[in-house]
Amino acid sequence: MALTKAQRATLKGALLEQRRGLSKKGPVKIEPNRTSEAKVGGDEDEQPLNEMMQSIASARNRNMEGVLGRVEKALRKLDEDEELYGVCDGCDEDIAFGRLKAMPWAELCVACQGKMDGPRTGHTRKRLTDYT
Ligand SMILES: [Zn+2]
Repeated sequence: MALTKAQRATLKGALLEQRRGLSKKGPVKIEPNRTSEAKVGGDEDEQPLNEMMQSIASARNRNMEGVLGRVEKALRKLDEDEELYGVCDGCDEDIAFGRLKAMPWAELCVACQGKMDGPRTGHTRKRLTDYT
């Protein structure tokens, strides 16, 4: 068993607080697509950049909803069978307390999360073609 009672209480408190914050705040608002301010330079790359910002904003919304769901799932685990909480869904190993402190809703250990995310190649490719 990885977590002490006190550690679990700390994490539960963090989860409850997180849930309160998330359900109150609601989804992040996406600002309308205004480019007039940035027109000064007359840069034609402005529009794609804006679209990129929009997609980042909506990805953030999706992510926040996902977090709230995971926060509730974690709280359910703590209520039903607290031994299930803090155990990696991928490999059944204990998730490090430090990771849980940063992300009390974490369902995967660092190793499994890394496998899930995969290598990040998108940004590198974009940078290469944008500035030629
Ligand atoms: Zn794992």
